[in-house]
Amino acid sequence: MSDQDNTPQHPDGVSADTAAEYLRMVLPLMSKNRVPATPENYAVWYSHVSGDNPDLSAEIERLTASDTAFDRETNRGLYRKFIHNRDIDAIENVRTSLGQLLTDVGSSLQGAGNDADAYANTLDGAIVHFSGTDDLQDIRMLLTTLISETRSIKSATTGLHADFEAKSKEIEELQEQLQHERKRAITDPLTGLYNRAALMDKLDHAIADMEDGQPPSVIMLDIDHFKAINDKHGHLIGDRVIRFVAQVLTKNVKGQDTAARYGGEEFTVLLPGTGIRGAQAVAESIRNAVAKAQLVRADTKQSLGQITLSAGVANLHPDEDMMELINRADQALYRAKRDGRNKVKLAD
Ligand code: GH3
Ligand code: MG
Ligand code: MG
Repeated sequence: MSDQDNTPQHPDGVSADTAAEYLRMVLPLMSKNRVPATPENYAVWYSHVSGDNPDLSAEIERLTASDTAFDRETNRGLYRKFIHNRDIDAIENVRTSLGQLLTDVGSSLQGAGNDADAYANTLDGAIVHFSGTDDLQDIRMLLTTLISETRSIKSATTGLHADFEAKSKEIEELQEQLQHERKRAITDPLTGLYNRAALMDKLDHAIADMEDGQPPSVIMLDIDHFKAINDKHGHLIGDRVIRFVAQVLTKNVKGQDTAARYGGEEFTVLLPGTGIRGAQAVAESIRNAVAKAQLVRADTKQSLGQITLSAGVANLHPDEDMMELINRADQALYRAKRDGRNKVKLAD
């Protein structure tokens, strides 16, 4: 017998007063028909009095009219047919919809990618358990358990989420910091070009990754009479000239080629897999672009005069290491200086 039948607040919306009224009618009626006051019989006659089961009432009226005794068998039959089966129907309905709900919750939790496998297992277990019970009381207890479990899972999941988010943010910040440090380690702060260390690293790789006898070339460049620029205009203007030359390099260096500030007013361009003539052409266009620029001081509008640079170009010899390559390019640069500056010279 379900407790639904004993509750004054009947799900059908019967008020407490009405329920009390039914109760007052049930016992005398049962006594009159010599029906023992067991909970089951009580449920039968309460249902009859409340009129919520016309089939049951019709059956009772038929039995009373034919003077049939409400013996053990008859009472049991009434209970099984009209009360117990009805309970099972109600349970079946609740079970179906709750089962669906639990399945939905379980799959949405899994679908959300939450680490709720344990919870899904609990739900699966609940569904199995659920299918095996006929008792509303059981279902109620099961639901209570599930609700409290859901709450604890929810708070645990929320905690995990917050933890995960904090960790991800921390990792993201560390990665940004690391990237920043990496960039700083290979970048020249004044010009934004690669620094000497980065150039050496790239040259090392260019030599190691050299494809089928296509050795790299390097261009060494040095601003002509730079000391005089510093002396005449000051170091700040000198810095601006260095930055201007760096911009020219960047514009003229494309693809896999690398421009670097080797140090002071000296620059290097690395051209992987490029022959000496190709490198010479790049050097010439850089030299030309710098030589034809008209630089003026932003403050006084005074002209800086012609800025020039000299360059030496070398292509890697077989069995040569990168320092030997750079030295040969440097010697060519020295010859360009000796030969009057604003020139590009090729190493032997
Ligand atoms: P050359 O044509 O033979 O190359 O003559 P130069 O005057 O350019 O050569 P030198 O090596 O005598 O002078 C280079 C000068 O560059 C000396 C140094 O003070 C200056 N210098 C080096 N690094 C920087 C820098 O970062 N900023 C500025 N403003 N000057 C620098
Ligand atoms: Mg120099
Ligand atoms: Mg110089």
